[in-house]
Amino acid sequence: MGGEKTVAIRGGGFNLQLTMADVSNKYPENVAGPYYCDDQCIDCDLCRETAPANFKRNEDGGHSYVYKQPETPEEEALCKEAMEGCPVEAIGNDA
Ligand code: SF4
Repeated sequence: MGGEKTVAIRGGGFNLQLTMADVSNKYPENVAGPYYCDDQCIDCDLCRETAPANFKRNEDGGHSYVYKQPETPEEEALCKEAMEGCPVEAIGNDA
């Protein structure tokens, strides 16, 4: 699970993409590594509540980003929980 999933619908002069967490849309503040937040984030706070050691808020942009990749099994589990709980699937795991 995780990773990017894209559904592309093409035809009749339009090209609609319904995109879940997509590494090409991730915010530049995300620290290097598998977990990231992309530009679908609606700033709901769930990931920061769930995994405060790994997710932070960009106060100017009004969105979350990953400031530290998980380093322990506990952090990994919390990041996974945050990813699965994100209501708009803005968290990706590119591992
Ligand atoms: S859980 Fe998803 S929508 Fe909510 S703040 Fe985190 S990345 Fe943004």
